[in-house]
Amino acid sequence: MKSSQGIRIKSPIEVDILRKAGKILSSIVGQLQSSLTSGMTTKDIDLKAQELIQKNNVVAAFKGYHGFPGAACVSVNEGVVHGIPGKRVICNGDIVSIDIGIIYEGYYSDMAVTVPIGTPSVEIRRLLDVTRESLYRGIDQAREGRRLSDISFAVQNFVEMHGFSVVRDFVGHGIGRALHEDPEIPNYGRPSEGPVLAEGMVFAIEPMVNMGTHRTRTLADGWTVVTEDGKPSAHFEHTIAITSKGPEILTQ
Ligand code: MG
Repeated sequence: MKSSQGIRIKSPIEVDILRKAGKILSSIVGQLQSSLTSGMTTKDIDLKAQELIQKNNVVAAFKGYHGFPGAACVSVNEGVVHGIPGKRVICNGDIVSIDIGIIYEGYYSDMAVTVPIGTPSVEIRRLLDVTRESLYRGIDQAREGRRLSDISFAVQNFVEMHGFSVVRDFVGHGIGRALHEDPEIPNYGRPSEGPVLAEGMVFAIEPMVNMGTHRTRTLADGWTVVTEDGKPSAHFEHTIAITSKGPEILTQ
């Protein structure tokens, strides 16, 4: 496994394992997503996630990671990331961000979606659409010969064009034999900076987009990150590989 500018280059065999891991994770997230209903607690969502993870014979990557208690991070409305599953009941009109990592044959995969419960307001729907699309704009830059910050710039540019803000305090990352590998992938920055991208790089790209200020704070539980102004936040994440044919989304 070669290293390019500190970024570990995966062999085709490793990419194939990561591809299988991604498929499993995306099916878990899809099933979990369609099981969400108002009245569930965030703990119920986590238990369902654990059940699906076990059923697929993979390992929950987040459980116990630096002491995190859940298999899933579940962040509601003003929750940005790292929400600890608990007693909070989800209601119609809420948005729920679910972030899950798994380990399959020693390799990690990481994915997040934000799901509306019931009928979301027009503004919330716009937040979700813009965040999801910003992820795809970022992924589209993950090509041989581009620079790392082209991904960051594409995300930020699209989000700010729509009047929302990108979170600075948390970033995407390389992924493979570890959950967090180099490089860090901010969702903001100027184009054409940082490492040159190459085939075999595998990244978790994950824009976190706030309706109001980009600033966040962490609650007293030491984990749950919320927007400083209490306005809603959305989060979408895919694990992707750079191939000779362009970016490949592994978590779908
Ligand atoms: Mg991640």
